[in-house]
Amino acid sequence: MTAADLGLATAGRGTVAHRPTGAAVRRMTLAVPNKGRLVEPTLALLHDAGLIFEERDRSLISRVENVALDILFVRTNDVIEFVGDGVADLGITGGDLLAEADTDLPIVRSLGYGRCRLAAAVPRDAPQREIAQLAGLRVATAHPGATRRWFEARGIPVTVITLSGAVEVAPRLGLADAIVDLVSSGVTLGTNGLRPIGDLLASEAVMVGNPARLVDEADAIDRLDTMLGAVLAGRRRKYVMMNAPVDHLADLAALLPGLESPSVIPLAHAGMIAIHAVVGSDDVWDLLPRLKAAGASGILVLPIEKLIA
Ligand code: AMP
Repeated sequence: MTAADLGLATAGRGTVAHRPTGAAVRRMTLAVPNKGRLVEPTLALLHDAGLIFEERDRSLISRVENVALDILFVRTNDVIEFVGDGVADLGITGGDLLAEADTDLPIVRSLGYGRCRLAAAVPRDAPQREIAQLAGLRVATAHPGATRRWFEARGIPVTVITLSGAVEVAPRLGLADAIVDLVSSGVTLGTNGLRPIGDLLASEAVMVGNPARLVDEADAIDRLDTMLGAVLAGRRRKYVMMNAPVDHLADLAALLPGLESPSVIPLAHAGMIAIHAVVGSDDVWDLLPRLKAAGASGILVLPIEKLIA
């Protein structure tokens, strides 16, 4: 699919919206996946960032109502090409696909979801214990570019066999001795009788930018990136509120390093204070019993929608 097929502007010319004042504002374009496992977390991130748009059954383009931005829904694999060609200013795709395409498109931000590894695996009863032991063997993969480059860079000679799917069954069919595939939990490898022997790379969803637009549209891109970053930072933290006798403050504050120092608010009940602090989401499980033991009561844990430190 080309930009012309889509009726879109190509490099250097964006679609233009007109403000009521008559001043033209260039609308940016963000390419996002229209299918697959990155769709839901990507749309959730964009909505959480405050972009107002309708998905309309994933039609090709959604107009963001409150920002001069259009969202272009394309195949995850095509995002890199659209951004590289300048059809889109920005795009969200998997880091593994960047590695596969061997592109130097700049990563504006790593997004923390879609985490997976490009892992090598062999049949459970095979003798290999590490990737170097694949020298001289056949490796089946749907990621031939990244796989070939990884082995070449390390001087490990392998025969890369490119398959577009069902890579896990290649050893059983006698097509290959090992596979290289994307893995998140590793359960699929196990159910196919395979044993991982090492990772080629780690991947997560990333936002990439067209190099020229990162300069020309620096302010607008920075605003969007700041909001995405604020959502991601908020998700990693919780807002904790509690009441406590004032003479327990030192003990509680020691447990609450927070973003800066915790806020301490006097309560109407003499000798009592409220303490508010920002803590790591991962710490909440350990922290609450310790806060309780240190004299806190009425402990509330609230989500943080956005956080700009
Ligand atoms: P999909 O469109 O569902 O095939 O997956 C697109 C992207 O999701 C991949 O390019 C990866 O960046 C990411 N991903 C995350 N976990 C996995 C996984 N276990 N298997 C395949 N892709 C994954």
